[in-house]
Amino acid sequence: MKLVSVLGSTGSIGVSTLDVLRRNKESYDLFALTANRNIERLLEQCLEFKPRYAVVPDADLAETLEQKISHSEASATKVLSGMESLEFVAKHRDVDIVVAAIVGAAGLLSTLAAAEAGKKLLLANKEALVISGDLLMSAVKNNNATLLPLDSEHNALFQCMPAGYRSGQSAEGIRKLILTASGGPFLNLAQAELEHVSVEQACAHPNWSMGRKISVDSATMMNKGLELIEASYLFDMSADLIEVLVHPQSVVHSMVDYVDGSVLAQLGNPDMRTPIAHALSWPKRQESGVSALDFMLNNQLSFEAPNYEKFPCLRLAYEALIEKGSAPAILNAANEVAVDGFLNKKIRFTDIPKLIEKTLQSSTIEKVDSIDTVLRVDRLARDVALRYMEQI
Ligand code: NAD
Ligand code: MG
Repeated sequence: MKLVSVLGSTGSIGVSTLDVLRRNKESYDLFALTANRNIERLLEQCLEFKPRYAVVPDADLAETLEQKISHSEASATKVLSGMESLEFVAKHRDVDIVVAAIVGAAGLLSTLAAAEAGKKLLLANKEALVISGDLLMSAVKNNNATLLPLDSEHNALFQCMPAGYRSGQSAEGIRKLILTASGGPFLNLAQAELEHVSVEQACAHPNWSMGRKISVDSATMMNKGLELIEASYLFDMSADLIEVLVHPQSVVHSMVDYVDGSVLAQLGNPDMRTPIAHALSWPKRQESGVSALDFMLNNQLSFEAPNYEKFPCLRLAYEALIEKGSAPAILNAANEVAVDGFLNKKIRFTDIPKLIEKTLQSSTIEKVDSIDTVLRVDRLARDVALRYMEQI
């Protein structure tokens, strides 16, 4: 039996994770479930999985949940609150596996805590890696943690790596990594029309059902930009060795191009339960609930080059990755502010890359050698981006 903490259990990845755990009950027990605002869903999850702990952000929410839980079948579940509690359930000595599925920089400290405690860390929270790449990868290495990517592309790349490969190592014999991108809901929309797209249109991804932030990131292609940086840290590859390829069907989840001309790919239906199930039971395999890929239904796989002019976020991410230092953290912070502004209808879709570019241009890029630097850079970039947003 493995004890699992699911950080961000009420989100899209969290719910898919619990579905895989439910299908493999004999192998897993829940140590902790955590949520931000969705107390109702967290309560339902506690009733079903009876974790040792449930974690919410503040004391008020904890009290609300506590009242409901104390008279229920899950009364043995202890309710905790605050960032320290998230870290507590990420690093507790009894925990075997931590699923980092909080969205955005809010997941940084708990993700890092799991790495520092040497856990088997299943990473969906790509923003944590983007903003603290070197620190998180060193924490994994120095504490002998096992880092397994949940992001479908990175999980695919991991599966195509040489036998015995561990995240962070530099593998031999690889010519390049090919990161596939669906192109998002606006792949075929005329560039001029992007200015007027609505929040609902941006959140309606053609192939994947996901949280709102990552859905907007997919629409701007910043998601692929963040993934580029994520891939660079996970697989120790420089920007020039990672190619983004648009593949609208989302069947080939990514590929590794080897020097002998072999290209290894991982294919499957677009369903996050596949990478989640893979990483949970790695190096073994287990059921995920995902149906077999039907090649007769998926008999047209196409590939095209990305349009950097129409999707400037992708260019900005390449530039931030080449610049390194605090550039990826600034890119991420400005993007979180811009996406939030767009979701709350304060700015237009096309203002997102503008806001990020302006924030990057007016920031000094520095070396990132401590978590305090990351937190300070993140805060400062958010302030700058918010100020620019007021001027739009
Ligand atoms: P989501 O919005 O559906 O869920 C986010 C989860 O994080 C929720 O449980 C929420 O309660 C929690 N959360 C949000 N803000 C928090 C805060 N300030 N403090 C504590 N908890 C907080 O998002 P999602 O789509 O599940 O994505 C989660 C992460 O996984 C993101 O980093 C995303 O980029 C990545 N990811 C998601 C998918 C997908 O298919 N959804 C695929 C690949 C990677
Ligand atoms: Mg992805």
